[in-house]
Amino acid sequence: MSSTSDCLFCRIIAGTIDARIVHQDDRVAAFHDINPQAPRHVLICPNVHLATLNDLTPEHEALMGHIVRTAAALAKTMGDAESGYRLVANCQRDAGQSVFHVHFHLLGGRTFAWPPG
Ligand code: AMP
Ligand code: ZN
Repeated sequence: MSSTSDCLFCRIIAGTIDARIVHQDDRVAAFHDINPQAPRHVLICPNVHLATLNDLTPEHEALMGHIVRTAAALAKTMGDAESGYRLVANCQRDAGQSVFHVHFHLLGGRTFAWPPG
């Protein structure tokens, strides 16, 4: 399924729900998280609807590479490239996934603990 009207992030990508978009192209969208967990907290997701990372197939490899490179470029723009940032994706319930459209959290502006909670 390429887009679903009952998916929050599909609706943001389509422009029917407002978000603070920081980047959008023919393959990915990035927007500020509504409940930021760091001074800078952006979500980067594919335009195509994929519920979880478990749905990825070989045809998505270039898309995933584009997402990671977009994240790195945004981190640089936000000024976090040298000091550091975290890029994380939660998959399924135990990891805390709450929106079932694949997305990566780009977090910056503070130090992050390891291991994560
Ligand atoms: P996850 O829990 O990993 O699935 O991440 C989902 C993220 O989406 C959470 O960090 C939420 O704060 C964020 N979120 C939920 N609704 C919105 C929204 N309308 N606009 C932007 N971010 C949102
Ligand atoms: Zn979706």
